[in-house]
Amino acid sequence: MVDEQLARRDITDASVLAAMRSVPRHEFVPGAALDEAYDDRPLPIGHGATISQPYIVALMTQALAVTPRDRVLEIGTGSGYGAAILAELAAEVVTVERVTPLARAAAERLAHLDHVRVVAGDGADPGTVGGLFDAISVTAATPELPTALLEHLAPGGRLVAPVGSDVADLVRVTRSSTGDARETLTKVRFVPLRRGVTD
Ligand code: SAH
Repeated sequence: MVDEQLARRDITDASVLAAMRSVPRHEFVPGAALDEAYDDRPLPIGHGATISQPYIVALMTQALAVTPRDRVLEIGTGSGYGAAILAELAAEVVTVERVTPLARAAAERLAHLDHVRVVAGDGADPGTVGGLFDAISVTAATPELPTALLEHLAPGGRLVAPVGSDVADLVRVTRSSTGDARETLTKVRFVPLRRGVTD
């Protein structure tokens, strides 16, 4: 997966490639899809959610330029796979999922990682999640970047999010002393960011 789908494309960050090598993706897919765990595409995980394509996870992680001191926030835990990759690189990961059973299952998969916290809640307005984050990964598509999320971005912080609906722009916001710089990295497809919590 890493050689053919990532290194052969434009994933060049050695720490991202190492993280993608060390997290066993098959532990994050439903039993019926085990054979497809390392395929070059997203897979359904129930509740209208997907585990993202490996390449997209790597691309977003690379764009976030996570360092070992960073606090990272992920919106859209899904299977917990993205959070597990971020956890390889960061000091702390907080991940928010609005579908309670998905949050519960991901929390079990990630329980062995002391520096990862799974929160069941609406990540578009993560009021209960405290403080500022050096990197924010949004893994559900939103027509506009929620201002509540941008308020959680630390000085020097990076936020990556699919902005749009069906085919979205993968946007990166980089915060500096002179303001926020916004760039579009590529086109992506993601499930939509929805509001509220579902049991
Ligand atoms: N990062 C995931 C991919 C998740 S798919 C992985 O690695 O498996 C997108 C997820 O975002 C879905 O699980 C969906 O339920 C969740 N989601 C959508 N809107 C949300 C919101 N407002 N807050 C938190 N999670 C949300």
